[in-house]
Amino acid sequence: MATELHETIYVAKQERHKNLFLNYKNLNNFPVELLKDEGLQFLERLYMKRNSLTTLPDNLAQKLPNLIELYLHSNNIVIIPEAIGNLARLQSLDLSNNALQLLCPEIGRLRSLRHLRLSNNRLKCLPAELGDLQDLETLDLSMNQLKSLPERLHRCLFLQNLTVDHNLLTHVPRQLCWLHRLNQLSMAANRLNFLPLDLGRSRELQFVFVDNNADLKGLPSYLYNKVIGCSGCGVSPQAPHADLNDALGKVLSEALVGLPAEVKVVGSETDGVVPLEELALRTLHRLHHHRPTDLNLLPPIGLPRSLLDLLQFPLGHCHRCSQAMFTIIYPKLFPLRETALAGVHRRTTVSFVAYCCSSHCLRTFDLQG
Ligand SMILES: [Zn+2]
Repeated sequence: MATELHETIYVAKQERHKNLFLNYKNLNNFPVELLKDEGLQFLERLYMKRNSLTTLPDNLAQKLPNLIELYLHSNNIVIIPEAIGNLARLQSLDLSNNALQLLCPEIGRLRSLRHLRLSNNRLKCLPAELGDLQDLETLDLSMNQLKSLPERLHRCLFLQNLTVDHNLLTHVPRQLCWLHRLNQLSMAANRLNFLPLDLGRSRELQFVFVDNNADLKGLPSYLYNKVIGCSGCGVSPQAPHADLNDALGKVLSEALVGLPAEVKVVGSETDGVVPLEELALRTLHRLHHHRPTDLNLLPPIGLPRSLLDLLQFPLGHCHRCSQAMFTIIYPKLFPLRETALAGVHRRTTVSFVAYCCSSHCLRTFDLQG
């Protein structure tokens, strides 16, 4: 095997190969032939899946400066060196099915990266620098132990496909709704109990999977007419919904629709008056977006950090009139069993929830409209 490996690398150097296949070679270490001398500076794709590598060499970028794709699926990689950030041309990195517990912040220096696959590792958190990967189109984080996603992820404006199945997520950042190219979002088998109010507002988002999130009782009504997977949602193993009669089921599902922590006041149809704080934020937001120069005319505004963040990324937008909302919402439930999707998802008790800005919008909102 060693001779065969030696020969493969020798030929690749001699013939200036762009692709090198070293899958299934029982490698415990990066072959020294890859890293000594020059000769592989033309290499663009390196395939090393299903070996037993535990780490990557520091001088990888120095020796393989033109690497565009690196496949390391199914090894035992525990750590990747900071020098990974030097692979300036790397567009595709597959580290699925390894033993990664940490991802170094230098990953954010891979500015050409378009596809990053990290599924089936032991990641408990991610560096905020992932948000610096501005060309990223595919991010697969499924089968890890993530409890949250980096909020800066919304800076990956080219992201089209985000997969976070089989983690421990209780929520996803509402800023994800700002990813206007996101086409597929898969969050199956987590611990989600609510989804961002604006999820599905973007026309580009067409596929949303939230299957097997037992605590999830409500889907934003923007998701109506999108392809959604939601079987196994709203299904508590302790209280199978099949035993509940309709009236009781309705009361339960209404009581259990989760809401983001930021919502301080939940309006109801009888709450005709929108609180002053909310009105102030809506006014500031309108100024900020439509006439930002007018803000300079106002005395300096000392808002707490949490409200400044909200001003930049509202809690959501009214599902009826698209007005930005910050601290108060009026929810309206449409149980799935009353919609066309009921037959598709027999095991679920989730509802569609329209989040409205006022009692007027609440009254006039209809799913079909
Ligand atoms: Zn409204």
